[in-house]
Amino acid sequence: MAQKSPVTVAHGDGIGPEIMDAVLKILDAAGAQLAIETIEIGEKVYKKGVPSGIEDKSWESLRRTQCFLKAPITTPQGGGFKSLNVTVRKSLALYANVRPCVSYHPYVRTTQPTMNMVIVRENEEDLYAGIEHQQTDNVVQCLKLISHTGSERIIRYAFEYARTNGRKKVTCISKDNIMKLTDGLFHKTFDRVAKEYPNIETNHLIVDIGAAKIAAAPHIFDVVVTENLYGDIISDIAAEVAGSVGLCGSSNIGKHGAMFEAIHGSAPDIAGKGIANPSGLLNAAVMMLQHLHQEKVAEKIHNAWLRTIEDGVHTGDIFNPQVSTQRAGTKEFAQAVIERLGEQPRYFKPVIFGEGGKMQLPEVAVPAAAVKKLEGVDIFLHWRGDAPIETLANQLKALSNSLKLSSIDSRGLLVWPQAAAQGESGDHWRCRFTAANDTAPVTHEQIIHLLQSISKAGLDFIKTENLYSFNGTRGFTVAQGQ
Ligand code: NAD
Repeated sequence: MAQKSPVTVAHGDGIGPEIMDAVLKILDAAGAQLAIETIEIGEKVYKKGVPSGIEDKSWESLRRTQCFLKAPITTPQGGGFKSLNVTVRKSLALYANVRPCVSYHPYVRTTQPTMNMVIVRENEEDLYAGIEHQQTDNVVQCLKLISHTGSERIIRYAFEYARTNGRKKVTCISKDNIMKLTDGLFHKTFDRVAKEYPNIETNHLIVDIGAAKIAAAPHIFDVVVTENLYGDIISDIAAEVAGSVGLCGSSNIGKHGAMFEAIHGSAPDIAGKGIANPSGLLNAAVMMLQHLHQEKVAEKIHNAWLRTIEDGVHTGDIFNPQVSTQRAGTKEFAQAVIERLGEQPRYFKPVIFGEGGKMQLPEVAVPAAAVKKLEGVDIFLHWRGDAPIETLANQLKALSNSLKLSSIDSRGLLVWPQAAAQGESGDHWRCRFTAANDTAPVTHEQIIHLLQSISKAGLDFIKTENLYSFNGTRGFTVAQGQ
């Protein structure tokens, strides 16, 4: 008998315990080899005064098993609670969120009968790093951080997912027509990694048209890889369009573990009634079995589940008198799947897992050090003088003896030396200083000296950002209108 894979299981809140019981019964009946450790998370733990919703002893299990099958939890109302998902994601370094969105037409209502796509979302960086600051009375900022390593890791994951799951195409979604450096890096990394997969078709879409196409013509997609924020939005669009919010599972894959869950919440409105659909969690568990290399068990369960859906055994959320033959509760649905273990679907194509071999995910290294040259500095000022912007420019020119004031803009829109827009007002000004003599490198000392002069002059600098070139390529953008 195969060795049992250690798994940490949490039954969660609301419908969580009901659907988890149903799923564990199916896993057991199918012969999954799992050594289950049960932990408590969610409402009860929050109420004990643990702000993260998960106790230290549970972490000990998670760190050991590195595999987490999680039922939904209820997020308590009010302040002081941390998101359990964010805590788990950060602690296990879960960098990839993988969400298959499939329609099960004609058995589940959908406007998109032939949709079968997988969204691979970067899960650790982007605007979700949560680095935000209020800088002036008028302006707050959120930093968007995209790294070479983060981009390459998720893009390699998407290609390896496609290769090992027999998928034919990978689409990159970004907004690099506007964010040329951050999204540009993501897109360029995609193009570079794509060359290693000549048998996989690739394309790139800007996120606005990409999201529109996912809503209107999702059948043109196969695997989609994207950054954190875009992935968050498009994966909900895709699940909704597939008509399968209650059927979707997702996996979160990381460097120190993996977490598997349904995409829906704890559904307190139907908790305890025995009518919840366990399919989302079951599909997550099928992904977990693939991750644990128990592909044949995963295949057996998924094919039995497809057969159950085709046979019209449906829970209330997907019940449709035109195609449903039995309105099943959670337990009856699980029993119907168990009775079909070993059977193949007749209408849907049976799944075959594990034929593509194991994923090859090499360590992604930080790029080699480039020749980095300091070209200048952006100094952001909180200034709300009634005087025209020329007054500020003249004052700064007088202060900047060894650096040259080259431009001032307001939230990216050029206001000096030429104004891209008339009458731009506000209290947040980016003042760009570059070398007075184009060939001489700028030094930290010059910048410190300039900041001291600005401070002594009573001007409030709220942030500075050094301007660098890397191997001769400019590592910063210019203001709109420049
Ligand atoms: P929800 O997904 O729990 O419910 C939305 C609707 O879908 C409800 O009408 C519910 O009855 C129905 N539904 C959901 N899952 C179902 C299932 N398996 N079978 C049948 N019907 C199902 O979303 P919500 O009501 O916005 O959130 C409820 C709670 O869940 C909140 O506390 C929220 O914070 C939490 N939540 C947790 C997670 C998680 O743990 N990953 C995710 C989302 C929401």
